[in-house]
Amino acid sequence: MRKEYFEVTWASLRCMVEPSFGERSVINHKDYFTNGNIVTSTAIGITETEVLTADGHSIPYDYLVIATGHKDPVSETKAGRLKEFQAAENEKIKSAQSILIVGGGPSGVKLAGEIAVDFPEKQVTLVHNGPRLLEFIGPKAADKTLKWFARKKVEVKLEQSVDLNSVTNSNGCKIYHTTAGETIQADCHFLCTGKPLASAWLKDTMLKNKLDDQGRLMVDEHLRVKGLNNIFAIGDITDIADINQGVAAQNHPLLAANNLKLLMGGKEGKMSSYKPGAAMAIVSLGRRDAVVQLPFGSMIGRFPGLIKSKDLFVGKARKDRGV
Ligand SMILES: Cc1cc2nc3c(=O)[nH]c(=O)nc-3n(C[C@H](O)[C@H](O)[C@H](O)COP(=O)(O)OP(=O)(O)OC[C@H]3O[C@@H](n4cnc5c(N)ncnc54)[C@H](O)[C@@H]3O)c2cc1C
Repeated sequence: MRKEYFEVTWASLRCMVEPSFGERSVINHKDYFTNGNIVTSTAIGITETEVLTADGHSIPYDYLVIATGHKDPVSETKAGRLKEFQAAENEKIKSAQSILIVGGGPSGVKLAGEIAVDFPEKQVTLVHNGPRLLEFIGPKAADKTLKWFARKKVEVKLEQSVDLNSVTNSNGCKIYHTTAGETIQADCHFLCTGKPLASAWLKDTMLKNKLDDQGRLMVDEHLRVKGLNNIFAIGDITDIADINQGVAAQNHPLLAANNLKLLMGGKEGKMSSYKPGAAMAIVSLGRRDAVVQLPFGSMIGRFPGLIKSKDLFVGKARKDRGV
């Protein structure tokens, strides 16, 4: 693994407004993973019998699980990550009067919600290139979120994108230009347009033909890389479509571990098949509210917020790891 820690990713937006939240949401692997070796280095290659790492290790394997998810150029150490929350992100928010958020997917919406709730005096503008916010959930939920932002005085601009190469300065303030010809004045911006998959390192390996055109590893129903007996892939790196990726990323390892055990015990025929979860997702909107997409409809406000928004499931993540 590239980093020495596990991070509750959706808590990182809270850490930007409250950096000390990271003390609990960033958990060193060595604090819970005690029965095995941890190599903190980037995997750069795979052969049929070994994984090669950037620091020169070559790690032999009989069975392999690949879970490199998305590329996230954040610090490799917990101390460094906490410093990023404090110095790079929180200071940037606190010292700005006006903030532009580019991208109206779950990260942009959550960040706008955190800032609007904790810093109501700041002018927040959210620009999204699609026709509605949160396009991965239903239009009604998106509409409710838009109205929530209107109540919080967050300005939302849809169907336009920001050209970050044409930012100009006027009286110490930045002027951002959008593809719809509008200008937005803001002291700083945050880019929330999604992160690339961390699969480029597989392109020159024996797995190059197992990547689909989006760079995802194609897996079978047992979460094995298609056509391979002893290599599993789990989480965001796979081509499984799940509306709630974070929950899927927690369910995949359970199924893969169980299947791995069966495979090693010579019971390959008993392996289970993965079934994507129900079409449910919950997006926090600051510390108390949330919007939830359920299979039969959507809801916004304090009630769905009670489920997630206060602790952001950080307590559960810690408990699951026994810390
Ligand atoms: C800001 C944010 C908010 C989110 N909010 C939600 C939410 O509210 N609900 C939800 O369901 N999902 C959410 N998600 C998505 C969720 O975090 C992901 O679905 C989940 O983290 C995927 O887990 P993963 O283990 O597959 O990949 P990742 O979490 O991306 O982990 C991959 C790990 O592999 C490491 N790595 C990458 N390349 C290499 C390499 N070559 N060698 C060694 N290590 C490598 C990375 O450093 C990383 O630690 C959010 C994501 C982000 C970024």
